[in-house]
Amino acid sequence: MKAQPIASHFIDGEYVEDTDGTVIESLYPATGEVIARLHAATPAIVERAVAAARRAQPAWAAMSPTARGRILKRAADIMRERNRELSELETLDTGKPIQETIVADPTSGADSFEFFGGIAAAGLNGSYIPLGQDFAYTKRVPLGVCVGIGAWNYPQQIACWKGAPALICGNAMVFKPSENTPLGALKIAEILIEAGLPKGLYNVIQGDRTTGPLLVNHPDVAKVSLTGSVPTGRKVAAAAAGSLKHVTMELGGKSPLIVFDDADIDSAVGGAMLGNFYSTGQVCSNGTRVFVQRNIKETFLSRLKARTENMVIGDPMDEATQLGPMVSFDQRQKVLSYIDKGKAEGATLVTGGGIPNHVTGEGYYVQPTVFADVTDEMTIAREEIFGPVMCVLDFDDEAEVIARANGTEFGLSGGVFTSDLTRGHRVVDQLEAGTLWINTYNLCPVEIPFGGSKQSGFGRENSLAALEHYSELKTVYVGMGKVEAPY
Ligand code: NAD
Repeated sequence: MKAQPIASHFIDGEYVEDTDGTVIESLYPATGEVIARLHAATPAIVERAVAAARRAQPAWAAMSPTARGRILKRAADIMRERNRELSELETLDTGKPIQETIVADPTSGADSFEFFGGIAAAGLNGSYIPLGQDFAYTKRVPLGVCVGIGAWNYPQQIACWKGAPALICGNAMVFKPSENTPLGALKIAEILIEAGLPKGLYNVIQGDRTTGPLLVNHPDVAKVSLTGSVPTGRKVAAAAAGSLKHVTMELGGKSPLIVFDDADIDSAVGGAMLGNFYSTGQVCSNGTRVFVQRNIKETFLSRLKARTENMVIGDPMDEATQLGPMVSFDQRQKVLSYIDKGKAEGATLVTGGGIPNHVTGEGYYVQPTVFADVTDEMTIAREEIFGPVMCVLDFDDEAEVIARANGTEFGLSGGVFTSDLTRGHRVVDQLEAGTLWINTYNLCPVEIPFGGSKQSGFGRENSLAALEHYSELKTVYVGMGKVEAPY
């Protein structure tokens, strides 16, 4: 299998190569096969990308929002037409099963282009402020050159979720995908050009943790939006603070999913499985601490075990496959080491706990794993694992579970399953997190704001809220009379 792009970077409307950059090998996670060889951006490539963005941005900002929106909507259409091809590429890039990528990855990117393209005409209005005989008005103005830095779990979605609001506000973007998944964003850049985006407005450069800082520290960059881990977030925010850049931080989590004894148990089991095993557990908002009220624990665990052991693990390109490999060998080793810690610290292994027996070759597979009798102090209950490992914890009453659910530095998301409507709202109201679900889990349509609190970050993606993070207000006070000065 090969997925070699024309060149490593996409700058100023065309593919660009600089073989002086460190080699990045793109491996297909299901087999370990090298499917593409790319080069990390050299400082010269970084300069070229930022310069192209800077050159292109003013004319783009001067266009009407409707005209900008039309281009994004065209990009959404092209993405939908090419959904199969883009989904296969996403599967090669990440190892996620085609059953998922075909419904969740390019489609969600297309939604983002469609949404922001559609709201452009009305969403960027300013306001008029009456001040007696004087008045003021506000304008929403772009920031300039925005940098997007992506994680490897949703490469195409992240490239679009950052690109769409940035572009619609009149900015230009330089996007750096994760070094683990370099392929998808290049296609997004190609599609935007095909849709009519003027060159230089959406550039993609490759690189790793040494390349990112070249962008974050660049004096011509006005904003950085990162999707990544908390430690990376701290470094990027600190570097951006050096020149007071705008920042959006979409970071990790260890979110609580609370199941009360009056919940529809099958829905709660389904929600917990989706919130732990989708994308092989590599989802930032996953509800990895599943608190189950003690009197339904046995029923919950037995149904969960049966359904988990029925999952189809295997070739991600097979439509029947429900669980693919981890993104990389290193990520699998990290997940396996957490599983070992869970066992060593006394959690009860309900199912899974290792590499699937039937998997041969070099694929980075891990069994979907459930631990029960997990306590708050255990490592697996405290740290983000980012793999298909669910921790089930028991609880007795509402106040106790809320306090324990909040007992974490993270605050990305959370969920509650209950048939008591008032309790559902009461509990989510007290959970310290940016995105919460009642009687479902992990649904993130473009219409709703998404983002974290506490150490999980700040700023919001999607929805009208994202516009505020890619633009700023310019206020104009208009004096209508003679200036009265006391001197
Ligand atoms: P990571 O933090 O290792 O890397 C993220 C990106 O940052 C990569 O592109 C990497 O090259 C770059 N990077 C690393 N160090 C940098 C630096 N010093 N300066 C600039 N860029 C730097 O994260 P990952 O392993 O790719 O992704 C997994 C993490 O991302 C998890 O913690 C997960 O929860 C989080 N995540 C969060 C969201 C969200 O929306 N909140 C979504 C997906 C993933």
